[in-house]
Amino acid sequence: MSSTPSAAPLFDTHAHLDFPGLAEDLDGLLARARAAGVTRIVSIGAGRGPGTLDGALTIARRHPGVVWATVGVHPHDASGLAPAVIDALESLAADPQVVALGETGLDFHYDRSPRDAQRDAFRAQIALARRVGKPIVVHTRLASDETLAILQEERARDVGGIIHCFSEDAAFAARALDLGFVASFSGLVTFPRAGAIREAALKQPLDAILVETDAPFLAPVPLRGRRAEPAHVAYTADAIAAWRGIAPEQFRRITTANGCRVYGLPDPSTDTRSPRDP
Ligand SMILES: [Zn+2]
Ligand SMILES: [Zn+2]
Repeated sequence: MSSTPSAAPLFDTHAHLDFPGLAEDLDGLLARARAAGVTRIVSIGAGRGPGTLDGALTIARRHPGVVWATVGVHPHDASGLAPAVIDALESLAADPQVVALGETGLDFHYDRSPRDAQRDAFRAQIALARRVGKPIVVHTRLASDETLAILQEERARDVGGIIHCFSEDAAFAARALDLGFVASFSGLVTFPRAGAIREAALKQPLDAILVETDAPFLAPVPLRGRRAEPAHVAYTADAIAAWRGIAPEQFRRITTANGCRVYGLPDPSTDTRSPRDP
């Protein structure tokens, strides 16, 4: 037997498996993930525009028990969010393999959609998440205060969720957590100039921290510049564990349990549920 049953599982809580470069190599990518200890992946159903709403869900259906999906419209594509798209999202969101809405939010760095369209799409998807009772995956870039204000105004706390892609510090992550949003850290946190988010990863309460790849983007050091894939989440998890002085296996168990809790999945290691920062 070549399996390693004692190894702690990893959970890549945010990957774009339907993106070009990953979708064509799905079987190989999932085999490499398994070999790296990644037992769970959430494929984010957003980022390729309103014509591809079910891209991630299609992959999740082919790989039950390993891949789950979200449905949503990325802030980059917010200007395409017609009422019919919200209706389509609502029917897809009822699928049991859809574990969250999003990613949605505000990206004022790239501004690929007009800001008003981003705001409207964000509010509409929070309202939808509340209607279907599922958490939200929030993307925020150079829009921290407004992101939190909208989450508060739209009562996103009722469903809670995950905040990612931020480049702010621990104080921002704490404000998000007050609104019911745990923080997810990608390979970005391993980059040399990632001072603020590294501080956030160090100070974030242990029961409110996740790891992700955001594949195919942001491969962690030492793979920076390559196309990211779920297997790489191990580098990010182990780097954060080392900075925090936590055994890598323990940090893997903690982040996997957190991901399962937030996404409403069965927890593979109930003995480490809700651990507290000392
Ligand atoms: Zn994002
Ligand atoms: Zn993403």
